[in-house]
Amino acid sequence: MGLARIRKGDTVQVTSGRERGKMGKVLEVLLQEDRVLVEKLNLVKRHLKPNQKTKQGGIIEKEAPIAIAAVMPYCPKCKKGVRVATQVLKENEKVRVCAFCKEKLEGKK
Ligand SMILES: [Zn+2]
Repeated sequence: MGLARIRKGDTVQVTSGRERGKMGKVLEVLLQEDRVLVEKLNLVKRHLKPNQKTKQGGIIEKEAPIAIAAVMPYCPKCKKGVRVATQVLKENEKVRVCAFCKEKLEGKK
């Protein structure tokens, strides 16, 4: 099996849709939906119902999922979202690299 193209913690660039060109960090990969949540992108307003604590309720902004096909891992060398290639370092050890410049794309933990 190959490596997941996008992982939690990756910095990605959006390639289509209303957030096109913007970058952010992947908060969560929703595998079953083929979508990702990206920090501060594709925000939607949610209305909070008043409850006993807040009394008033209010509006919060929350990330809505973006199609995984619409984001690409960001390559710090190419300075853009790029296609991903897999590089085999040694047996059973693979890393994701930029298909263009071969820069490693593994996120820093
Ligand atoms: Zn690159």
